[in-house]
Formats: sequence, structure tokens, C-alpha cells
Amino acid sequence: MKRKKRLTFVAMLLAAAVIAMAGCGGGAGEKADIVITNAVVHTVDPEGTIAEAVAVKGEEIIYVGDAAGVEKYINSSTKVLDMEGGTVLPGLIDCHMHPAMSAATYLYEISLHGVTADIDTYIEVIRDFVEAHPDQEVYSGAGFMRSVFDSVGPRKEMLDEISADKPLILTSVDGHSRWVNSKALEIAGITKDTPNPEGGVIQRDPATGEPSGLLQESAMELVADLHPEYTKEEYKEAILWLQEWFNSVGLTTIFDAMIPIDKPNYYNAYQELAESGQLTLRIRGAWYMNPEMGADNYEENVNKAIELSKGFQTPYFQVNAFKFFADQVIEEETGYLAEPYQNRDDGWRGIKVWDDQELTDLFAKIDKAGFQLHIHQIGDAAADYTLTALEKAAAANGERDSRHTFAHVQLLSDRDAERMAALKMNAIIAPYWMNMDDYYWDLYYPMLGKDRVNQMYPAKSLMERGINTGVHSDFFVTEPDPGWLFYSAMTRTVPQKVIEMGYGELAKDIVRTTDINFPITEGVNGPLPPFDERLSLDEIIKASTWNGAYANFMEQETGSIEVGKKADMIAFSDNLHQLDMESISEITPILSVFDGKIVFDGKE
Ligand SMILES: [Zn+2]
Repeated sequence: MKRKKRLTFVAMLLAAAVIAMAGCGGGAGEKADIVITNAVVHTVDPEGTIAEAVAVKGEEIIYVGDAAGVEKYINSSTKVLDMEGGTVLPGLIDCHMHPAMSAATYLYEISLHGVTADIDTYIEVIRDFVEAHPDQEVYSGAGFMRSVFDSVGPRKEMLDEISADKPLILTSVDGHSRWVNSKALEIAGITKDTPNPEGGVIQRDPATGEPSGLLQESAMELVADLHPEYTKEEYKEAILWLQEWFNSVGLTTIFDAMIPIDKPNYYNAYQELAESGQLTLRIRGAWYMNPEMGADNYEENVNKAIELSKGFQTPYFQVNAFKFFADQVIEEETGYLAEPYQNRDDGWRGIKVWDDQELTDLFAKIDKAGFQLHIHQIGDAAADYTLTALEKAAAANGERDSRHTFAHVQLLSDRDAERMAALKMNAIIAPYWMNMDDYYWDLYYPMLGKDRVNQMYPAKSLMERGINTGVHSDFFVTEPDPGWLFYSAMTRTVPQKVIEMGYGELAKDIVRTTDINFPITEGVNGPLPPFDERLSLDEIIKASTWNGAYANFMEQETGSIEVGKKADMIAFSDNLHQLDMESISEITPILSVFDGKIVFDGKE
């Protein structure tokens, strides 16, 4: 299937060459279904060509060039879209997120995403949901921010007041902790005497030692059985709902970073939508491997996943990768650091998720099968031991076009960046998170100390080393938004609208600056050092398009606007290069084309 597609592509290029010659000779040319003209088209081709017009026939791009040249592709049935000087980009690619899982949460559970981050608002939203769904046996949801609460975290008593007799389980916005009520603790059998599980923490009341209502990392698993499971139809409905939203913010390709091998409803929902032609996104993904499977079951899980992937052969849904966590997150003190957490006096360095030998064996097996490794990497020590396993796998299997990936890349030593480059890896980064905010001041700064906290989230230096660098939202952690994405990549701060969304009324009390010369003062919301990691507009456009396609082995079909490629394109009403930064933060597509079809029309 893959080979056949490549042959078609070559054939298209030849056809395009012939057409161009025929055009010169004045022969009857091919007519387009859609023509986009009078635009500033960032083709993101290898030369960085800026064109004026694009013609599309069927799924594919048949012309890219000047406005005069596109005229001959137009006949009476061609839809001609005059962009009036606006910008056209390849469709945006988000290389790490949790789409189906998050969409189900938005549709069927308590969603604290996008609501003002304060305890009173959370309680109100949770209470409203519970009152509106009196027949539900279990209440679950997601999206609360840890930074709203003290160091012990949210308490069970807050939820007991809303629901004393039914379990209530809420996952944090970063997905690394769960807030539960007393009933959930009771059903899960978690008491004062329950020890912390390996790789996790049951938060306790400092006075009584009783579980206080927050379960971190692997302790979240203790209540996992209480979490509702969705039907395939529910997942399908959720995915269809989500893709409409995502098309409207310019996405045409996304990567599901955690496909559960043991949940057929989940992956079959994608597959059935792909086969029936209902997807308006290209979806790629990774099978989720974790130590909780038990070492005896790794091999069986890998083999099963590889077999399943063979059945996913449409251009719309494929799973060609495996996902591993190398560590967790710094804000929970579970990111794996080379030097201890500075806020602790016990030498704690965080969680190393995998045993070296087990990881090396698994990587070697998966790499040999031709699959990509997609690794959650936050701490510098997480990069180090994972790179060692990757180097051993590469040595065992010989060189191949593997494009293994680190996602997030919060802390990375120069030496390990060099090792990534040597292995020809991808870095998938999160410009959305590049900001000096209360996570920085309340969590990262005390935990990492002054030097390390100002080395977080490399971007430009990765590109300069030749590492293919794509972007991600980690949705539901962050809701995709091209204005926010471009703005934050270019300034390493978040736009004012994001602060207003997060803080509501309190936003006016936040001291915010975008000036890199502003003296760094505690509590100020401002640009995140190092400032030379800021990207240009053209760099963030390329990272959000072609680099994302390359990261997913899709550069033959999408990621740039070139003859023979699939017509995945978006348009904005303005010439982005003429906008000031505040206006960049407000950009939103007026048009999204996927596979040659208009899937979002913001003008209608
Ligand atoms: Zn993720």
C-alpha cells in the first residue's frame, strides 16, 4: 500500500511536467476543482517559495505559482477563491496529543478545561454537572490545574460536599494526578495504611496521615477501574465532534500519542471512520507501552500491536509508532533529573520509568520491526538513559530511517542534543508552554533552581543542530490555537487572551511583560529565557507543517504546498508577515482544505 502510493506520487510529478509543457504549447490543459488565488502562499517547499495561487483537482495539488499562470486551470465548474492578499499555509500538524480520549472527556464528563482556574469555579462546574446527571453511577472529569491548590493539592472534602455516596474522579490538566472523593478512596480500598505504589504518591493530610484526595502518577491507577469505559460509537461521535473543531483551527494532521493496545473500542473507532471516509484529519499514532503491563507481557503486547497496525492502511489512520514514558513531569517532582530537586533535601531526582535492559530490549525489537519510538522526555536524565537505549538499538539493528522522537523536551543537555542529532531524531516541542508564569515561579523555579529553570524548552538550538523539530499541544493539556502557538514560539510568552482565559477576573492583577529586557522579577508573567530560543515566523510555520509531516513519515503526501501532494491547506485573511505580535496572537483560519475538500469555511 505504501509503495503503491509512492509510485502514484512519481507518476503525478511526471504528469505535472507534461502538463506544464503542454501549457507552453497552448494545448488543452487540465481543469481544477478549486483555485485559490491572489494569496501569499507559503509553500514550505525546500526553497521556501512564496507563490500567489494554487490549483487543486480531486485530492491533489496540480499547480502552484503566480496568479496569471493559474488562469488556465479555471473553467465554469471551478470554485475560485480570491484570498485578497491573505496568507495560505500547508495544513497544520500537531505531533503529540490525546484526541479521542480528550474528546470523550469533553463530551461525556466534567470538563474543567478552559474554565477560570480557581477553586470556587471548579466546585461550581463540578456541582452543576453532578446535579444535571443525577442517575450517573460514577462522576469523572478532567482539566484542573495543580497550581491553584497548595502543595498537598486538592482535598477530598471539597468533592464530598458535592457527592458523598458516589465516586468522583477528576484528572489534572497535565494528566499526571487525580483528585478523588472519599467514596472513590473507599471503593478502591485506599486507607491511611496503604503504601505508595512504585512510581506514585498517595497524598496525605499532614496532620492526620489520612489520604487527602490526590493520587499522583502510578497511584492514579488505583482508581482506574472506576473510570468509565466508552463504546466504539461514543468514541466515533467524540472524534467527529473534535475534527470539526480542529479543522476550524487549521489542523489537518494530528498524532495520538497514547493508543491503548487493550482497548479495541478506542482504535477501532478511528479505523472505522478512516475506512468509511469520514475523517477530515490525517491521524497517526503510537501504541502505548508501560511497565504496568509486566515484563512477561511486553513481547505479547508488541506483537499484538504490530499485527493490528497491519490492518490500518488507509491514508487517514495509521499507527506506525510505540509510545514510552522515559519519566513523568517536573511539577509533580517526577521528571527525572541529572541533579537533585533543589526544593528537597533527600537527593530526590524524580522517576526513571524503565529499567535499562528492558528498555533496550524493547527498543531493539520495535526498531527492528520498522516502527518508530515516540518517547515522553521531560528531565535531562530521562534523555540520557533513553538515548543510551536508542544507541544500543541502532547499533544492534544497523542504520535505518527510524526518525525516533522525543516529545516535550523540557530539559536537555548540549551533549544529549548532539546525540539526538547523531541518531537523526525528531524533537516535538510545545511552544504553548514557553512562558514565565505561575508554573515557573511556584513550581519550576524552587524545584530546579535559577540556572536550570532558565534552560527549559529549547527550540531554535534544536533546529540549528539539524534536529527535525515539530510542535504539539498535548491536547487536552492545551487546546490547539494557531495564534497562541505562533505568538508563543516567537516571543516565549503567552498572549494576553490566554492570561484572561486562565485567570478571569484576576487577570488584571497579573503583571505581564513581553519585553526581554525587563528585569526578571518574582511573580512577573514574562518571556521565558533563553531568549535566543525564540523562533521567527517562517521557522514556526515550517515547524508546524513540513517538520511535522517529516516527523511522521508523511512528507511525500502533506506538510507543504507542492504539485503532486495532497491538498491540505489553510488560509488567513491577513498577510501574516505584516501583522504586529498582538495581531498574530489573534489569527484564526478563514478556510481549511483537507484532501482537496473544503472542510472549514470561516467566511460562510
Ligand atoms: Zn501527552
